[in-house]
Amino acid sequence: MRRIKALRCRECGSEYPIEPLHVCEYCFGPLEVEYDYDALSKLVTHESIAKGPTSLWRYYDLLPVDSPLHECVDLGGGFTPLVEATRLGEKLGVRRLYIKNDTVNPTWSFKDRVVSVAVTKAKEFGFDTVACASTGNLANSLAAHAAKVGMRCFVFVPADIELSKVVGSLVYGPQLVAVEGNYDEVNRLCVEVASRFGWAFVNINIRPYYSEGSKTIALEVLEQLNWKAPEHIVVPVASGSLLTKVWKGIKECYRIGLIESVRTKVHGAQPSGCAPVVNAFKLGASMPKPVKPQTIVKSLAIGNPADGIYALRAIRESGGVAEEVTDEEVVEAIKLLAETEGIWAETAGGVTIAVLKKLIRQGIIKRDELTVALVTGSGIKTSEVVCESLREPIRIQPRLKAFEEALQKLQL
Ligand SMILES: *Cc1c(COP(=O)(O)O)cnc(C)c1O
Ligand SMILES: [Zn+2]
Repeated sequence: MRRIKALRCRECGSEYPIEPLHVCEYCFGPLEVEYDYDALSKLVTHESIAKGPTSLWRYYDLLPVDSPLHECVDLGGGFTPLVEATRLGEKLGVRRLYIKNDTVNPTWSFKDRVVSVAVTKAKEFGFDTVACASTGNLANSLAAHAAKVGMRCFVFVPADIELSKVVGSLVYGPQLVAVEGNYDEVNRLCVEVASRFGWAFVNINIRPYYSEGSKTIALEVLEQLNWKAPEHIVVPVASGSLLTKVWKGIKECYRIGLIESVRTKVHGAQPSGCAPVVNAFKLGASMPKPVKPQTIVKSLAIGNPADGIYALRAIRESGGVAEEVTDEEVVEAIKLLAETEGIWAETAGGVTIAVLKKLIRQGIIKRDELTVALVTGSGIKTSEVVCESLREPIRIQPRLKAFEEALQKLQL
């Protein structure tokens, strides 16, 4: 049974074969994977999914790959914990709050989901070189997956990203290209490199397949809630691909009968220093206006988001909102999540939690509503943003008396 029909232009509906294509020849609209939903309804059940592997590949049937399962590129990404956040919920004033903890992926961010699918597809297409334009996490994940399958790998990043994200790529042995410019400039360069060298740029010419990997985070949330859709989901926004695909994933689950209703409000979260989608949402505009990023949240610092229009549409269609938070609120939220739930998030996770807090205060998320916040990357990669606002360690001689004296001064 053929699950995958074609690539389809999101704007004019033109259809294309399943090839490494990403824009429509007629209208330059982005291409998206179109499935045969009748076939999927027959093929996919709660039980068939439950029998799958404990990775994102348990949703194999809903992903745009033809390789048999054992040939899919798998570092074990996905199938991450959905944690009931009782202590954080109490602090924020809500009763049914869950954190989707994607910090525990193989390279510590949700990018392992998109990259597993993209590298599998690049292999299917017969490419020998994979590449990406990245703010850091994507580069880490691509370098790791390329190592696993022995493919040549180039990662292009802005020269000023966090040291941990540089090391976190280099350790897997790719060629890293540090570009003196911001992400939007890196991306523009990579579009040219992609067409000159014919490599598989996972987030450019392989993007329609890559982005489908994002869906798996939403599918997991639904499965972990016993196939019940939450009332709210808070999603960090960079290019807008994750948010767009979270919404697509929820709608697809409804369409093939995995959930009974679509009732989830999808909320977008950005840092104030780079909030083109939030600005457009608040202005009632249909298209984000590009901005020049200035924020500690480097993983979300995309001033001209490729899927910004579609993220906006998804937010509005679902009845959600878009909200922004300052860098100070981000740092506070990282600490709040760590101190209440034992989860150390990177800056993007801080944005999610800070926006969650704001939406609860605004009364948009109510006390008894089932709410999920996506925490998409680990704090270990952005430790520099919190290290100056943590409790000072005490330094003592190795004697009990020294400890007792120090303890008295602390007045804990
Ligand atoms: C890439 C990324 C996002 C958002 O990704 P988009 O799909 O580009 O919107 C969110 N959080 C983290 C940690 C990321 O690395
Ligand atoms: Zn088109």
